[in-house]
Amino acid sequence: MPIIRFEGQEYDCSEDETLLDSLASHGVMLPSACKAGACQTCLTRALKGKPSAASQQGIRDTLAAQGYFLACLCKPSGDMEIGLASVSPRYSARLVGKELLNESIIRLRLERPASFSYRAGQFVNLTREGDALTRSYSLASIPSDDCLELHVKRVPDGKMSNWLFDEVVVGDELSFFGPSGDCFYISDSGDQPLMLAGAGTGLAPLYGILRDALEQGHRGPIHLFHASLATPGLYLMDELRALATRYEQFHYTPCVLHGDAPEGGVQGNIVDIPAMTLGSLAGYRVFLCGDPPIVNGLRQKSFLAGASMQAIYSDPFVFTPA
Ligand SMILES: Cc1cc2nc3c(=O)[nH]c(=O)nc-3n(C[C@H](O)[C@H](O)[C@H](O)COP(=O)(O)OP(=O)(O)OC[C@H]3O[C@@H](n4cnc5c(N)ncnc54)[C@H](O)[C@@H]3O)c2cc1C
Repeated sequence: MPIIRFEGQEYDCSEDETLLDSLASHGVMLPSACKAGACQTCLTRALKGKPSAASQQGIRDTLAAQGYFLACLCKPSGDMEIGLASVSPRYSARLVGKELLNESIIRLRLERPASFSYRAGQFVNLTREGDALTRSYSLASIPSDDCLELHVKRVPDGKMSNWLFDEVVVGDELSFFGPSGDCFYISDSGDQPLMLAGAGTGLAPLYGILRDALEQGHRGPIHLFHASLATPGLYLMDELRALATRYEQFHYTPCVLHGDAPEGGVQGNIVDIPAMTLGSLAGYRVFLCGDPPIVNGLRQKSFLAGASMQAIYSDPFVFTPA
């Protein structure tokens, strides 16, 4: 059985278990969130021994070359000595705003720490003091905003989301680290058409990316498709319509699966709507965020409609199944 050395202690680790789970069974809780290799919260460094190839897929090659790996994907085949990655500084920020956007989504506004810089569309990892519970939330704000903005959906029995809904109040300090993610706007081709799509709080990073592109003077058409099961689940409709009025290159399409769509919207499956509405997506830069099956479906349909895989940026909100 491989032996894992961490902070001066040795732990045995079954080859059938991930290093994250093995250490947890010994009471050693490494920071983690999605446990599926998406959020990279459990980025760890091998000081001795070799991490599995699977645990280094999806991280930058420069990090892999330095021995970094994802503990949630690593089933060790030999002894290792590991250390925590210190690539993301931690921040503490005061909550200055909390409001309902619809019955199951809240908007949180955090004072932006002076040293924190980010790209619109990236995400941060919120950590609850006390038990170190950590979850990823996308930034809906843009760097020129005074505050950091998060949109949080209440998940039934969800530990973090219910805590944020029911217990956290304005004035509390929240701790987070990051930013992470590469789903953001780059202003290198201002005439390229953009397609942004997602459901629920998938709008959070898309709202940031959209405002960032407009602020940076993007000239090409920008199409945003935001979906919900039914009209009451949509949010920020007034803000998005106001942007569509102000910027002629921006087009907003609210989408609902059931019932009548709101004015200017479409009823149907969000996975099909962008390609059906726009026809060919050849030459588009595509941003897809939110629920993983929807993001995967949209990625496939966008590719089939002509978008190049390299031009599709996505942020699936992966979560750990119960
Ligand atoms: C990169 C990234 C960005 C994210 N950005 C956002 C964001 O901007 N806004 C936001 O609200 N969330 C976002 N998430 C999801 C978020 O990190 C949490 O997973 C979510 O808030 C649930 O956490 P919880 O502690 O409340 O639920 P948990 O205690 O982790 O889960 C409770 C139960 O609900 C299930 N569950 C968890 N999430 C979901 C879900 N989405 N749908 C159905 N069942 C679920 C679990 O399997 C479990 O059974 C993001 C995730 C990632 C990876």
